[in-house]
Amino acid sequence: MSDNFNVMEQFGIDVFNENTMRQRLPKIIYKQLKQTIDEAKELDSSIADVVASAIKDWAIEKGATHFTHWFQPMTGITAEKHDSFITPIGDGTVIMEFSGKELIKGESDASSFPSGGLRATFEARGYTAWDPTSYAFVKNGSLYIPTAFYSYGGEALDKKTPLLRSMDAVSTQALRILRLFGNDTVKRVVPTVGAEQEYFLVDKKTYDKRKDLIFTGRTLFGAPAPKGQEMDDHYYGSIKARVADYMKDLDEHLWRLGITSKTKHNEVAPAQHEMAPLFAPCNLSCDQNQLTMDIMKKVALEHGLVCLLHEKPFAGINGSGKHDNWSLSTDTGKNLLDPGKSPMDNAQFLTFLAAIIKAVDEYPELLRMAVATAGNDHRLGANEAPPAIVSIFLGEDLEAVIEHLIDGTNYTTQRAMFNVGVSSLPSFPKDSTDRNRTSPFAFTGNKFEFRMCGSSLNIAGPNTVLNTIVANSLKEFADELEGCENFTEALHDLLVRTIKEHKRVIFNGNGYGNEWCEEAEKRGLPNFRSTIDAIPALTSPKSIKLFKKFGIYTEVELHARAEIHLENYSKAVNIEALTAADMARTEILPAVMKYTGEICSIAASKKAIGIEPSVELALAAKLNDLTVSLNERLEALGDAVVKAQCTEESYAKAVAYHNYVFPAMQELRAVVDELETKVDEKCWPYPTYDELLYNI
Ligand code: ADP
Ligand code: MG
Repeated sequence: MSDNFNVMEQFGIDVFNENTMRQRLPKIIYKQLKQTIDEAKELDSSIADVVASAIKDWAIEKGATHFTHWFQPMTGITAEKHDSFITPIGDGTVIMEFSGKELIKGESDASSFPSGGLRATFEARGYTAWDPTSYAFVKNGSLYIPTAFYSYGGEALDKKTPLLRSMDAVSTQALRILRLFGNDTVKRVVPTVGAEQEYFLVDKKTYDKRKDLIFTGRTLFGAPAPKGQEMDDHYYGSIKARVADYMKDLDEHLWRLGITSKTKHNEVAPAQHEMAPLFAPCNLSCDQNQLTMDIMKKVALEHGLVCLLHEKPFAGINGSGKHDNWSLSTDTGKNLLDPGKSPMDNAQFLTFLAAIIKAVDEYPELLRMAVATAGNDHRLGANEAPPAIVSIFLGEDLEAVIEHLIDGTNYTTQRAMFNVGVSSLPSFPKDSTDRNRTSPFAFTGNKFEFRMCGSSLNIAGPNTVLNTIVANSLKEFADELEGCENFTEALHDLLVRTIKEHKRVIFNGNGYGNEWCEEAEKRGLPNFRSTIDAIPALTSPKSIKLFKKFGIYTEVELHARAEIHLENYSKAVNIEALTAADMARTEILPAVMKYTGEICSIAASKKAIGIEPSVELALAAKLNDLTVSLNERLEALGDAVVKAQCTEESYAKAVAYHNYVFPAMQELRAVVDELETKVDEKCWPYPTYDELLYNI
């Protein structure tokens, strides 16, 4: 971007944020809109025209000619269809118009978006509705209006609608708890999220030579480079000039859009990096993360780079995740996971903490399901990312507090804790709690960090689950505590009981390795190793009941989502298999045969002058053996793909891809990667790991 970018002046310049609203809207309208936003209510249609007109004028000044309802269908990425503001007025000229109706609601053909069967039952029409709590912005000449996307019958067709529903649910239940603690002023509780985004950068010219990267986002073949990440010299290492330029440009793009990019650094793997924004309300954070991923890719291209967001672009090298930092905040700005100064605050903190522990222990399968994708299967449980077993890390300090609380001998002391003026909790220094990188769900001082999300994931999914399961715990707490005779006593009993019951999910040790798998099994914690193990949880009677209770998903919506989840998995593996087979057949096999031919002719020439070509013959024989295996494994892969493609029922199909196609691809890869180490690198048809990982 520019040479002299003034951050303070440019930050949020392309966003119709509160500041712009205040400047652009009549006072009374601004007040109404602000209230709509703060209370996450629906916009009153009587003010919509005024708001729309102000947004339009502002957008046009920023160079916009079009507007788009921007939404998040279940493809995992965002969708947009642009309409221009122009309206002909009959004399051959046009004016620029944008009505309140166009701002609030849009209609689009939903038939080409995944609906998981909802389409069959309902009309193909889909509707988009403005989410005023996520600001509109201008990008590439269009006004973007963040919206929710739903069907004619009102079923959610997107990732955002359920997220908004879950935010309402957790707010309602959290407010009940706050009221019990005597807080009558807070009007809304908002889940806050900060998503740390990992990514790889590779050179575009190198990338363009690899069909696997182009079609699947990851390398399907590739022998390890002589140097991997064993030196740990990349993490926080000095950033190369080309990457630094990219990061600077990225920051400027993000800042203009009001995305608070805060931290950037090199990650553990070579060519891997991270960007972390400041946290924001959950839905805004999700929208901004979607936008961030999009911008990361676009800016990379401008730098002759490609940004890889796949969870596992390179075998043997750490994959990329996204840490979803999550907390609950009141509209008055208090973080409910911040242990307070007074004993009453501490009791409230412990109540929310207990609710979360209970939620995670009761619904680990939903958290696991929410992060299950073909790409993330390469990470979870693979000694680099958290294990596939969901557990909670509290850190020593907090664990001691909890032990103390449930320890009968300290009963009276602990009870005294809730009486104002007696003992209080220690504050939890952030650093002492953040050491355990192997935990999937770690308390880090004043928030939880859910670390199982894959780097390309739309975090609306896991946050919908988190909000809902915590709402469920809070509801049960409130149901029990409201109307009890002695609040302090009832609360104490509830907390002790809850923690005792759900303590098994707390694990502060090393999450890697078999010991934990065995220990977790003893504790009865589930271990869903792959996506196909994880998805059925979505439609279990237990989940249906939970989601229905809070109006997050109907049963129909859940089945539709499970269907799409499975379809996405099968499609991803299918594309990988076809790409691998294509590369092996049309690039690798010919290259190997050609090279074998060269070796054989050298052998023949040597023999002709009486030299024994022992090395050449041995190499040619080895190459020939590997070529035979390669051919066999290609056939086996082809058979497995056909079998999977012919399987009708969606779960059985996904299982076929997982159980037969995926292993067949791995088998093929093993031979190809061995061949790579034996063939002259000048003959190898595509760039190797050395070139991909070390040439920026
Ligand atoms: P690290 O995990 O590397 O130690 P930080 O402590 O800087 O990282 O925070 C990681 C992320 O957590 C950031 O995006 C930050 O904004 C976010 N975060 C901090 N406080 C909260 C909160 N109360 N709610 C949600 N996210 C938060
Ligand atoms: Mg982190």
